[in-house]
Amino acid sequence: MKKLILILGDQLDLKGAALRNFDLKNDEVIMIESMHEAQYVWTHKAKIALFLSAMRHFANQLRELHYPLTYIQNSSLSIVEALKEKIVKGNFTHLICIEPGEWRLKQQIEELAKDISVTFEMREDDHFYCSHQEFVKWASDKKELRLEYFYRLMRKTHHILIDSEGNPEGGQWNFDQDNRKPYPKKGPGILEQAIFFEPDAITQEVIAFVKETYATHPGSLETFQWPVTRTQALEALEYFVEYRLRNFGVYQDAMWTDTPFGWHSILSSSLNLKLLNPREVIAAAVNAWKKYDLDLSTIEGFIRQILGWREFVRGMYYLDMPQMAKDNYYDHQRSLPQWYWSGQTNMACMKDAIGQTLKYGYAHHIQRLMVTGNFALIAEILPSAVCDWYLAIYVDAIEWVELPNTAGMALFANGGRFTSKPYIASGAYIKRMSNYCGSCKYKPDVRFGETACPVTTLYWNFLIKHRTQFESSPRTRLMTANLNRISHEDQKSIQEHAQYVLNHLDDL
Ligand SMILES: Cc1cc2nc3c(=O)[nH]c(=O)nc-3n(C[C@H](O)[C@H](O)[C@H](O)COP(=O)(O)OP(=O)(O)OC[C@H]3O[C@@H](n4cnc5c(N)ncnc54)[C@H](O)[C@@H]3O)c2cc1C
Ligand code: SF4
Repeated sequence: MKKLILILGDQLDLKGAALRNFDLKNDEVIMIESMHEAQYVWTHKAKIALFLSAMRHFANQLRELHYPLTYIQNSSLSIVEALKEKIVKGNFTHLICIEPGEWRLKQQIEELAKDISVTFEMREDDHFYCSHQEFVKWASDKKELRLEYFYRLMRKTHHILIDSEGNPEGGQWNFDQDNRKPYPKKGPGILEQAIFFEPDAITQEVIAFVKETYATHPGSLETFQWPVTRTQALEALEYFVEYRLRNFGVYQDAMWTDTPFGWHSILSSSLNLKLLNPREVIAAAVNAWKKYDLDLSTIEGFIRQILGWREFVRGMYYLDMPQMAKDNYYDHQRSLPQWYWSGQTNMACMKDAIGQTLKYGYAHHIQRLMVTGNFALIAEILPSAVCDWYLAIYVDAIEWVELPNTAGMALFANGGRFTSKPYIASGAYIKRMSNYCGSCKYKPDVRFGETACPVTTLYWNFLIKHRTQFESSPRTRLMTANLNRISHEDQKSIQEHAQYVLNHLDDL
């Protein structure tokens, strides 16, 4: 019996399921850097560098612990091709891996195992609170799949923010009304800066390699300072709960020019690479809440993202794939404007959100949902093109979390399978939540004409087009009630101007 254990680039935990029962005498680990993984979407340079550097650091840890390891660097083969070569040449009888976070890779590895008749074990990733089986069971008798009820179940099951009598701490499950404020009129004021890490020799070597090999890829490496080891990720977590968690909730949705990180945790890449376990992130937040007597609203808001949304979208991904990647509820077919890749647009909100994305590989949730995502929806862009962009451009993007957020939440591409309404907004929302509009060529309150804000024009146009859908739900009826206050003549002008905008998306 000769076992080969595959560890993928987002499975970097020594305590993870892959190395369980590892026999140091007979088993072997394989890690593969496949160039194909950086190229099948036009990946941001920082995302490539993060994965390569984190993998190489992890490989060194394995070597120090004397794990027999084959580490294949910069292979022109796909992961599956390189894996096949190794299994066949090494006469391995068993292949073991953790379930990949991408459906595509999962299918390919399963097919390979069948093809070459190796005994195959795909272990479930234990970096999540909710197993597939539990999620399927939860979903099986629900008329509507909604985060709120799933989140409450997770809170109860894992006894998180539950008081001694079994009730939610503070007497309610959700403190959203206390959260999500804009920054004060004068701006965010003094922010506790986010923590970053100077590239060490390994990271510098990776950066030089990525600069040369993927020179034409989008994004910059000049500011690359992401955590690439578990030690750094733990330091980042400690720093966040100590200094930045206190204002997380209240300014969760706020946006401000040149304030790329706000009070956000910036932990998603470490969580998704499995440098951190969500259980320790939640424990650290709960401890900080008690130690510093922080507002419950901020803690609940933070925990909801990890115990709620993160677990929920993962469950939905495995429940709905491969269909999720094909869904196109509105049959949108337009191309993604070129400036999504360059940030070169006159729209100040898009310029800032995309600009920081290209600089860091990061934008926070509301920038992703209500700026770039909202625009892609109301500009009728083909969902798969939008999803490819999100998968390529964010350092934390792995399909299990990117796709449900993009296709399901931002684009309503699955017709509301797990959201109660399309998340659309006009320039008025962006004006309220940011300072972007002040420096913009366009005017957020103008609906048509030369100075009209494209977000506003396309928002009203979308509502006119889908009036029946929006009127039919109590959650969106107010939006059409506002539409009904606009004269027919102005509605016609909005539609005409929207047509012009839609035909000139690249020029905005
Ligand atoms: C269109 C779109 C695409 C997205 N793509 C990704 C992606 O590829 N990878 C990714 O990790 N997140 C994605 N998100 C969710 C969210 O935007 C990011 O997790 C978050 O911005 C990461 O920054 P942070 O670590 O500072 O998060 P914080 O705001 O500090 O939140 C704390 C943690 O909660 C988790 N979280 C928060 N919101 C979500 C969510 N909606 N779904 C899942 N987990 C969440 C993350 O692990 C995050 O680190 C996407 C959201 C949208 C709307
Ligand atoms: S005016 Fe419109 S395009 Fe300009 S920043 Fe505001 S919302 Fe964005």
